[in-house]
Amino acid sequence: MRFDIVTIFPGLFSGIFEHGIVRRAQAEGRVTVNLYDLRAFTHDRHRTVDDRPFGGGEGMVLKPEPLAEAMESLGIAPCARRAPEDGTRVILLSAQGIPFSQSVARQLTAVDRVVLLCGRYEGVDERINQLYCDMELSIGDYVLSGGELAAAVVVDAVMRLVPGVLGNEASGEFESFGVPDAEIATDEAGVPRSQHGAGGLLDYPHYTRPVEFGGVAAPPVLLNGDHSAIRRWRREQQLRKTMANRPDLLERAALTDEDKRILDSIGWKKY
Ligand code: SAM
Repeated sequence: MRFDIVTIFPGLFSGIFEHGIVRRAQAEGRVTVNLYDLRAFTHDRHRTVDDRPFGGGEGMVLKPEPLAEAMESLGIAPCARRAPEDGTRVILLSAQGIPFSQSVARQLTAVDRVVLLCGRYEGVDERINQLYCDMELSIGDYVLSGGELAAAVVVDAVMRLVPGVLGNEASGEFESFGVPDAEIATDEAGVPRSQHGAGGLLDYPHYTRPVEFGGVAAPPVLLNGDHSAIRRWRREQQLRKTMANRPDLLERAALTDEDKRILDSIGWKKY
């Protein structure tokens, strides 16, 4: 999978993609991340990428010509001239975009190439969005000073779902925000076999050595080797954490009868 990032600050990415799973995925040739300096597509002495907004008002706007030239140099034609299934998605990072989520990240793994346009100042001339972009993505309800951190978030979240990037192929599915409508395999006692956030729940809490830290002991159930009891405890923790921090996720989570019973016992009123 290939990511192309167009930005006025390519230097902002140095370091971000040089560590951990992202670095390994690139070293193994599973993903490629290319950075393109928008100023390379200007033709004036000052390498100007911005201009004053029509209609007046605060700030500057990224002008369309360098962005369009960057797109053409990457072989990206305007949407109207692109084949609908050409394997490329052009994304404008924008506070006005649709919310980026694990499910959008999952959808993006279906394409071969993701092109990310990073805005700056008051944003990008809207005609670039209209002419070249397949979607506008926001990483949250707050305003960043540029699209670079948002682009890095999208690359990281999508890349780790590319097959082979995580050691265990299934692990992406079993984290927080795992597929909500996935079939939940249960054992004979109705306890889900999944070890993480499958079913659209948040992940359960994790512990490692030492057994006691800061006067707090790790939950004894995790130390006794009873795997069915451990799964049951983890599932209950997922339900508790999701109810406390993200009750909205419970509305669309795939829940077993046992889950509903646990939720009942901890005060979830829906069932
Ligand atoms: N005037 C814009 C607005 O109110 O929606 C904010 C522009 S912001 C200062 C500059 C750039 O940062 C945007 O063009 C976009 O690329 C990026 N940006 C800001 N917030 C973002 C968010 N929540 N998600 C993704 N990109 C964001």
